[in-house]
Amino acid sequence: MPPTAPLIVQKYGGTSVGSIERIQAVAERVKRTHDAGNHVVVVVSAMSGETDRLLALARAIQPRPSPRELDVLLATGEQVTIALLAMALESLGCPARSYTGGQVQVRTDSAHNKARIRDIDGARVRADLDAGRVVVVAGFQGIDEHGNITTLGRGGSDTSAVAMAAALAANECQIYTDVDGVYTTDPRIEPRARKLDRITFEEMLEMASLGSKVLQIRAVEFAGKYQVPLRVLSSFVEGAGTLISFEEENVEDAKIAGIAFAKDEAKLTILRVPDQPGIAHKILGPIAAANVEVDMIVQNIAADEKTTDFTFTVHRNDFAKAMEILRETAGSLGAQEVLGDEQIVKLSLVGVGMRSHAGIASRMFEALAKEGINIRMISTSEIKISVVVDERYLELGVRALHAAFGLETAA
Ligand code: ADP
Ligand code: ASP
Ligand code: MG
Repeated sequence: MPPTAPLIVQKYGGTSVGSIERIQAVAERVKRTHDAGNHVVVVVSAMSGETDRLLALARAIQPRPSPRELDVLLATGEQVTIALLAMALESLGCPARSYTGGQVQVRTDSAHNKARIRDIDGARVRADLDAGRVVVVAGFQGIDEHGNITTLGRGGSDTSAVAMAAALAANECQIYTDVDGVYTTDPRIEPRARKLDRITFEEMLEMASLGSKVLQIRAVEFAGKYQVPLRVLSSFVEGAGTLISFEEENVEDAKIAGIAFAKDEAKLTILRVPDQPGIAHKILGPIAAANVEVDMIVQNIAADEKTTDFTFTVHRNDFAKAMEILRETAGSLGAQEVLGDEQIVKLSLVGVGMRSHAGIASRMFEALAKEGINIRMISTSEIKISVVVDERYLELGVRALHAAFGLETAA
């Protein structure tokens, strides 16, 4: 194949390689792309359920397994699928070679279990492509400067694929999954969700950061940084999927692109702390020092103007740790009480059209009020509005907002 042939990176997620039949179907799709005159690099995830299975094995030995050893274990999931896919391609007569992340020099920092890719040396991959082979690379994994295996955090194969596409200056990065594109919201929660033909990069970034698992946030960040043309499509059905577009304007002219939600939130409140300068720092300093990320923050002065109530949210995994720290802080500050709530979710409306349209927040609050859904916290930015509500209202809330903004039909 001429070195000038277009280069496509295709990523297949867990369900897309979940069985031998699925792997064979993927091999056929890859071969078709290759036969059409493209260089193809394939990035694969572990077979569906495998990463969870490996995690459970580790936890059966140690409740908090060593991060380094956990990475050695988790990386095996993807190593299985690269080999099987390369075999399936070879058996179709399509020359292929599989590589682990370390073998193709996906270099990361040393933050085990959530490593960040620093750079990728594309030389080895290029040599294989020029020799006419399909290259199959294990997603989700890399290697640090000391030669340790690292992994990129759940859903990290998306990021592997986009980083690979950036390193090789690919013509397109295609993310194949079990839905046929990016929808106005998760179609598992709202069956009336509508597939988008395009979504702006900014909107996709917000959706991913606010909980939409269809793309890992870092994959979207990478695509933006290196201007990688990115598309989400189904490995089960044919179709053009959804293009992540770098144009500023949403061509569908919709005010709202979609609704994201995050189930893994938790809320902490410290009541009646003396209202003095530096109090926010005194409360959140120890939380940050323990490496717990804080998301939303609300501070409210009490009627007597001498004390303040302070509420913030963290990831549910960090809830117990954050509560422990906050109780200590409460003791030293003479606060009245500490409250915690793990049964909350965050619902967010996302759309670049918000910049030029007023009244979206009030429509959102009205739609939730009509369903009797109490809003616990609110936060806004230029292109999103997020609310925290009780977990039991997740489905009802998403569906109410979806209907209120007419998302089931094209704008
Ligand atoms: P893969 O294993 O292929 O990486 P994921 O499970 O990580 O697949 O991501 C695909 C899933 O993302 C879909 O099955 C869907 O339930 C979920 N999802 C969440 N939000 C959206 C959205 N806005 N559009 C499409 N899918 C979404
Ligand atoms: N196998 C990893 C996971 O389950 C990475 C991925 O699928 O993207 O999170
Ligand atoms: Mg995924």
